Amino acid sequence: MNIRYTIHKLFVGLRLRCPNCERGHMFHGLFKMDETCPYCGARYERLSGESIGGTMINLVFAEVLSMGGYIITQALFAPPLAFQLIFWVSFNIIFVLLFYRHARGIWASLSYLSGNVYPDPDFQREYTSQVK
Ligand SMILES: [Zn+2]
Repeated sequence: MNIRYTIHKLFVGLRLRCPNCERGHMFHGLFKMDETCPYCGARYERLSGESIGGTMINLVFAEVLSMGGYIITQALFAPPLAFQLIFWVSFNIIFVLLFYRHARGIWASLSYLSGNVYPDPDFQREYTSQVK
């Protein structure tokens, strides 16, 4: 597995596409991720609680951006602490809501790269029987 392939698959997840076939959309609601790809049938998460990985990615991105933004704006402009707190707490809440789907997509891509995103065997049998 080379680094270009890995980065490509992470961007596929970031674009909310199925990492297996790159065609199916992972989300059809605002925050509800489909269990399987509507195109190839790949199951995105096999175990309950796997979505916590996407939540972790979301929180790490939010914290790194807000802490980095806080440090940079404090060093450059030194605004009042109350302004900094209100702005960066608001940024954190909005970012977490907006990035949630993309973080889940990245997590699905990481699961795919570790070999855990593939069509269920039953679906595969059903699919191949319909193709004949
Ligand atoms: Zn797919």
